[in-house]
This record gives sequence, C-alpha cells and structure tokens, in this order.
Amino acid sequence: MAKIGFLGLGEMGTPMARRLLQAGHELLVWNRSAERTAPLAQEGAAVVSSPARAAAGRDFVITMLATPDALEQVLFGSEGLAPALSPGQVLIDMSTVGPQEVHAAAARLPKGASLVDAPVRGSVPQATSGRLDIFVGASDQDYERVRPILETLGSVRHTGGPGSGAAMKLVANLALGAAMVTLGEALALGESLELQQNIVLDVLADSPIGPIVKAKRANVESGQFAPSFKLRHAAKDLRLVTETAAVKGRDLKQAKANRAWLDEAAEHGAADLDFSAVVATIGREKSSADRPRSNKAGAAEH
Ligand code: NAP
Repeated sequence: MAKIGFLGLGEMGTPMARRLLQAGHELLVWNRSAERTAPLAQEGAAVVSSPARAAAGRDFVITMLATPDALEQVLFGSEGLAPALSPGQVLIDMSTVGPQEVHAAAARLPKGASLVDAPVRGSVPQATSGRLDIFVGASDQDYERVRPILETLGSVRHTGGPGSGAAMKLVANLALGAAMVTLGEALALGESLELQQNIVLDVLADSPIGPIVKAKRANVESGQFAPSFKLRHAAKDLRLVTETAAVKGRDLKQAKANRAWLDEAAEHGAADLDFSAVVATIGREKSSADRPRSNKAGAAEH
C-alpha cells in the first residue's frame, strides 16, 4: 500500500480520498477550509496544517483543486507543496487546469520530483463508486508508477506525455459544455413552439445529446440544481478551452458561444449551482424577435 498526500477535499476530492483510504492506502490530507477534513479524519486519515506538510514521507501527492490559480497557490504560495517535494516523489494533479498550467507547474518542481496530470471525467457519483474516466499525461515510467493508485478511482487511459491528460480533459469538456447548452436551447425552442416539455425530453433522450438529458433530466424537471459539477467550474473549463485553442491559433466559435451562456448564468447567480442550471438561464432569456406580437401588425399575420 502507498503513502499518499491528498490536497483539495471538495465535491470530488472528498469521495476520491475516501476511496483511497478504503483501499488501504495511508493518507495525509489537507484542505484550505480545515473543517472539510473532519469526516476523513474520523475515517482514519491524518490531517496536516499546510500543503508543504502533506509531502512528508509520501510516495505520491494528489491535488484535486478548483482552478489553475488554486493549484498555483497550493504549490507555490505560502507553505506551498512544491518546494517540499523530494526526488522520486510524484505529484499527481487531478484538477481541471489545462495543459499550459501543467507545463508551467512541472517546470518549477524541484529536480527529481515529477508531475503527472490525471484529470477526470465523471462527477460525484462516479468519484464515489470508483468509476471515473482518468486521462493520464505521463512518461511511460511515471504512468506505470501511478496506474495502480489511479485504478482505485476509475478506469485509466494513458493519453501520452505530460500535459496530454489535461489537454484531453479540455477536449472532453468542450463536448460536455456543448451538449448542456444544446439541451438548454432545444428546450427553449420547444417551449416557444408550445411543445410539452416531457415529450421534448423523451425525444431528446434518444438524440445525440441523450446522455446529458438522462443525467440532468431530474434537475431540469424539478428546477432544482444542487451542485454536483458547479457551473463556475464548467465556465472555467470553457474559458480554458477557448483560451488554449486561441494560443494554438484556433477560433472555436461554438465553444465561445457555449462559454458565453455559462458566463451569463454565473453572472445571474448560478455559479455555485450545478452546471445544468444554464438550462434555466437559457429558458428565461427571450430576444425581442421571440416575443409574441400583440400589436395589430402581428395579429394580421395570423
Ligand atoms: P469544489 O467542490 O469547488 O472544490 C474545490 C477545492 O479546491 C476545495 O477543496 C477548495 O477548498 C479548493 N480551493 C479552491 N480555491 C483554492 C485556493 N485558492 N487555495 C487552496 N484551495 C482552493 O470543486 P470539485 O467539484 O471538487 O472540482 C475539483 C476539480 O475537479 C475542478 O478543477 C473541477 O473542474 C474538476 N472536476 C469536477 C467535476 C465535478 O463533477 N464536480 C468533474 C470533473 C472534474 P475550500 O474547501 O477551502 O473551498
């Protein structure tokens, strides 16, 4: 069994750390808001008071943090993890931060310590049951070292060298964002055409966006969007998608439009709801062209 440090006990990090603990690994955990360490402490993890302390005597240190800025803080901020890493230790970053951040962080680690990027697809239920899809960017040697640990969390795919896992995650989330926004727009169109929402959802469940319809139908029908994948993270991911694409000379028009919807939902108070709340934002918005005409000219057209 391995000695693992785990930093970032949010919606995803907590069930992931729990699975590692239940598999028999020895865990040191750290979280910015200390109160979130309590459940894992009760289950046998040791709690440390700074990121730097989470490196002590560890074979692997895993980070599962919100954003590139959060990863920067934890690695290179006050009492940061990076300077505390020793030769032979492997940092496994499982956050969604994009390949540029992965390369920038890897270049600043102490000599002999390596960074493997292993972001995940799937949400809280998959994290809880060990069914995440994990995209691993690593040298062949590092991949063989981290594979047994990551297999506790889900199915593992070696996507190529360092940075390729983070890159693959952006590709996957471009598609996820598109599917979610497409569902919102399809429902908005259905409503404008006076179709029944339950029939529209039945038809969309058998369409190319079927998986997202099945996953988020209960949220849409109840109008309740308790966070599983926070909208602020989905918006962050589409920002990473469009900015990373721009660096490579690509203008992804549809991803930009999807990002705009998520940003608008965040601005209207949905940032900490589930990302499916974008459906409600899209449903509420009507351009002047969509509004029913009540004047005489409008009536004459019918
Ligand atoms: P979350 O619930 O918002 O948790 C974020 C974690 O990052 C918390 O531990 C938080 O600490 C920490 N954090 C944020 N800013 C920080 C800072 N400046 N310094 C130190 N720690 C900081 O997010 P999550 O849902 O677990 O997601 C984690 C990552 O996985 C994100 O990159 C997300 O895009 C990705 N992801 C999420 C899902 C999903 O369905 N939720 C699925 C796939 C991938 P506090 O507790 O102190 O706030």
